[in-house]
Amino acid sequence: MDDSGVDVEVDELREHYRIEREKRLRADGTAQYRELKDDYEAFDRDPFVDPNFSRDPVVEQSDVVIVGGGFAGMLTAINLAKLGITNVRIVEKAGDFGGTWYWNRYPGCMCDVESYTYLPLLEETGYVPTEKYASASEIFAYCQLLARQFNLYPRALFQTVITSAEWDATANRWLVGTSRGDKLSATYLVTAGGLLHKAKLPGIPGIEHFEGKAFHTSRWDFEYTGGSNTEFMDKLADKRVGIIGTGATGVQAVPQLARAAKELYVFQRTPSAVGVRNNGPTDLEWFNGLAPGWQAERIVNFTHAVTGVKPEKNLVADGWTDVMWVNTQKLPESDQEAAALEQSDFATMESIRDRVDQVVHDPATAAKLKPWYSKNCKRVCFHDEYLPAFNRPNVHLVDTNGLGVERITATGVVVDGVEYPVDCLIFASGFEVTSDLDRRLGFDPVGRDGIALSQRWDQGARTLHGVLSGGFPNLLIISLVQAGFGTNFLHFLSKSTEHVASIIAACQERGIATIEASAEAEEEWLLVLYGAAAGAARYSVDCTPSYYNSEQVYANAKAARNLVYAGSLLDYAGYLERWRETGTMPGALTTQAP
Ligand code: NAP
Repeated sequence: MDDSGVDVEVDELREHYRIEREKRLRADGTAQYRELKDDYEAFDRDPFVDPNFSRDPVVEQSDVVIVGGGFAGMLTAINLAKLGITNVRIVEKAGDFGGTWYWNRYPGCMCDVESYTYLPLLEETGYVPTEKYASASEIFAYCQLLARQFNLYPRALFQTVITSAEWDATANRWLVGTSRGDKLSATYLVTAGGLLHKAKLPGIPGIEHFEGKAFHTSRWDFEYTGGSNTEFMDKLADKRVGIIGTGATGVQAVPQLARAAKELYVFQRTPSAVGVRNNGPTDLEWFNGLAPGWQAERIVNFTHAVTGVKPEKNLVADGWTDVMWVNTQKLPESDQEAAALEQSDFATMESIRDRVDQVVHDPATAAKLKPWYSKNCKRVCFHDEYLPAFNRPNVHLVDTNGLGVERITATGVVVDGVEYPVDCLIFASGFEVTSDLDRRLGFDPVGRDGIALSQRWDQGARTLHGVLSGGFPNLLIISLVQAGFGTNFLHFLSKSTEHVASIIAACQERGIATIEASAEAEEEWLLVLYGAAAGAARYSVDCTPSYYNSEQVYANAKAARNLVYAGSLLDYAGYLERWRETGTMPGALTTQAP
C-alpha cells in the first residue's frame, strides 16, 4: 500500500510488465516500418494543395536559408528578424506554414499540452487561445497569424522540397537546389525540419494490396470522410472503418470516428495510457488579468513540474503535471530511493488502469485497454472521450496481443486468423523520430571537402549542443539529435531557435565568416549527453518498445551517439545560455572574414 492508498504488488507488476514487453519485442526494430515513397508514394500526396501548382524557379542570394516552415522555421525567422536579419528564405514542402499543424488536421486533432504554454509569443501577438487545449485548426490558424504578423509570407517558397545543399568553400556559402529548380545561395543554412515530419506506415504483409480507401492520419482525406478537424464526418455513416494505431493520434481520432462511422474497428498493438484531459474554454477574466511576463514564467513552471522539480506553485496543474510530478527516470542515489521511485511509477499507472475500469463497461474490453508498462516508456495521452468510445455498440476493439496486425487483404484486416472487412483503413502509425537526420530532412548536406552529413555521421551524430557540427561550416541544426527535448516541445523550439539566431547574429557582428564545431567539443558534448542519459537509460531497458527507445534496438554505434539530452530541458537551455554568455564561442572553430 503506498501513501496514495493504492495497493501495489511490486513483484506481480514487474512480472506483468515483463510479459507484456516480451510479446511486443521484435527483431526488426525500426525496419518494421515503411517510408511513404516508392510503392507507398501515393500516401504522401498533399491533399491540401493544388497539385498542378507551378512557378518559375528562384535564383537568389540571401543571408539565411531555413529548411522548414513549421514552428521551428518560423521562430528561427522571427528571432533573426528581432536581431535585424531579414534577408532570409524559408523553403517548405507543404502549401503553407504550420509544419505538424499543417499536416495533422485529422478530426479531433488538438494539442494536449496547454495552449497558454504551447503557443509561442502570445504576449507579443495578443492572441487569446479559445480553449485550454486548442484544436489543430486553431493552432494552424495561429501559425498563419504569426506568419502574417512577422511578415514571413514574402520569404517563403511553399510546395518546394530541398534536393541538395552543398558548401562552397570558395564563396563561403551554401548552394541549395530544390524540386522546383531554384538556385539559392546563403551564408547560413538552418535545418528546422524533420522533427515529426516523416510519416511512416507499418510494414504489414499485404498492405499494398488493400483495395479500399486508405490514408495516413497526417494526410486525411476529407473528401472521402466529410467533416473537418472540428466538424462531424458526414460521409462515413455507411462505412466500415478500420484504424491501425492507438498512440496520441489514434486516441484523438477514435472518438470522432466512433461518432461518424457505421462500424469502427480499432486495431491495437500496445494500449496507450490515457489520463484526464479536462478541456474547457479560456476564462477571459483570468487571461486578461495575467501580468506581463506571465507566459515565460508559465512555460518554465510547466517544464519544472513535468521534470520532477516541483515549483512552489503548479501553475498549469493538469494531467501532465499530475503524471510527471515525480521524475521516476531520475538516477536513484540509494536502493530506498529506487524503490520509492518505482512505487510512485506503479501508483501512477495503477490510477490510469483504474480509470479504464471506471469508464469502460465491458470488463473484457477494459482489460485489453490497460497499459502495462512504466509511465515514461511511452508518451502518456490525455483524453476524456477515447475510453467512452468503446462503450458504443459500433466500436470494436481488436487487440493484437502485442503482435500487431497479422495481414492486410484486398478487403480487410486480419488479426489472429480472423478477417475484419473494412471499406476504409486509416493508418495512425506515427512518424520517424530516431532515423538518420538526412533521411528525415530528405536531402544530405554536403560539407567541407565534399563530405556528406551521412558520411561524417555514419557512426552516429557529431555535434556541439546538437546545433553545430564539424565539417559543416555555417550549418545550424534544429533537431532532437544530441539536443534537448521537453513535454512542451515549443519550449525546446523557442530555446533552440533563439540560440541559432543569436549565433548567426554574433557571427555577422564580429565578422566571423565560418563557424562549426571542433572535434574536441563534439566529444565533450557527447560525454555531457552520456552523463545526462544514465537515469533514462537505466529506466528504458525494461520498457516496452516504441519510438522513445528506437524500438529497443540499440546494438549499434550510431544509436549510441544519436541520443537526445535526457536531462531537464531547462538544464539543456542552461548549457546554451552559458555558452553564449562566455562571448567566446568555446568549442567552435571560426574563421574571420577577410
Ligand atoms: P505513435 O505514437 O508512433 O503511434 C503509432 C501507433 O501505431 C502505435 O499505437 C503503434 O503500436 C501502432 N502500430 C504500429 N505498427 C503497428 C502494427 N503493425 N500493427 C498494429 N499497430 C501498429 O504515432 P502517433 O500516435 O501519430 O503520435 C506520434 C507523436 O505525435 C506523438 O508521440 C506526439 O509526440 C505527437 N502527437 C502529439 C499530440 C498532442 O496532443 N500534442 C497528438 C498527436 C500526436 P505500438 O504502440 O505497439 O508501437
